[in-house]
Amino acid sequence: MVIIMKLDASESDVEKVKAKIAQKGCHPYLVYGTQKLAVGVTGPTTQLDEEEFLIMDSVQEVLRVSKKFKLVSREVKSEDTIIDINGEKIGGKHLTVIAGPCSIESRQQLFDIAGPLKEMGLKFFRAGAYKPRTSPYAFQGLKEKGLELLSEIKKELGLMVITEAKDTETLDAVAEVSDIIQIGARNMQNFSLLEKAGRLKNPILLKRGLAASIEDLLMSAEYIVSQGNFNVILCERGIRTFETYTRNTLDLNAVPVIKKHSHLPIFVDPSHGIGIWDKVPAMAMGAVACGADGVMIEVHNKPDEALSDGYQSLTPKNFEKMLHKLEQLAPIVDKELDLCK
Ligand code: PEP
Ligand code: MN
Repeated sequence: MVIIMKLDASESDVEKVKAKIAQKGCHPYLVYGTQKLAVGVTGPTTQLDEEEFLIMDSVQEVLRVSKKFKLVSREVKSEDTIIDINGEKIGGKHLTVIAGPCSIESRQQLFDIAGPLKEMGLKFFRAGAYKPRTSPYAFQGLKEKGLELLSEIKKELGLMVITEAKDTETLDAVAEVSDIIQIGARNMQNFSLLEKAGRLKNPILLKRGLAASIEDLLMSAEYIVSQGNFNVILCERGIRTFETYTRNTLDLNAVPVIKKHSHLPIFVDPSHGIGIWDKVPAMAMGAVACGADGVMIEVHNKPDEALSDGYQSLTPKNFEKMLHKLEQLAPIVDKELDLCK
């Protein structure tokens, strides 16, 4: 259920609505639009009677939400969520490009990649400190040391950083350095991790699971939002299909479908989606063309020596070529590429 408050509703009016919801054992969530305030309600909402709210002077409208996911749905909030990260906006008309290596390997490697990206005008840098690898014998990341190196990148280059939280034990340490916390595909349904991330303030980039439906992804986002953290960015990164020519099947269908059903920003990661570096630019263009709010791209200065995902990583030079194309494409879909000029 969602209760739309009138424009002139006061704080005490909102408190009265919240109290009435809580009395019936339900939970109220304040959802702020640019003008109106909506109170989303979860819990045993069948116990609530619309009339009880409609008779209140401050209430404009009461709607039943038909979807399984509630707080992330457009029924609760019709306008796009725009996330503000230190003044940088994600969502709406903004097209954001995040780039960086799959893993943090060394100080030298990190600065050799981040330096050129910063010069190209990028604002967000990605790099994994804790790596969820299919094989326990594969490189698992530099862990705490990696987080320290990321803080150096932030301080010395002024880039904002995104890195993955692999489990609840290391989430707080990751949260301390991350401007955006990534929850990876393999953890999309790690519900304790989602709930804990939902109690943080950091924006969360939630990647779609390898075999997750669009609805599964939205339900996982609901886990985070229902704990109070509305700053969730969804990310399509390819799903498993019978196809073997590519690493995954990048489901670009997810972009317009999610745009219809959810107010949250949706990014695309074509690097993991296709898994072959020279085909990444084509899929990044496709992602922007179908309305993605951002793309996340793996970039490595020496792809053939990378400790993870080298085959899908662009060199900074090839990345720059792609960036110029994305910049030209953006206005055609009413977006603007956000670069430091
Ligand atoms: C990554 O971003 O490097 C990563 C491991 O992604 P995913 O969880 O989508 O596989
Ligand atoms: Mn990777």
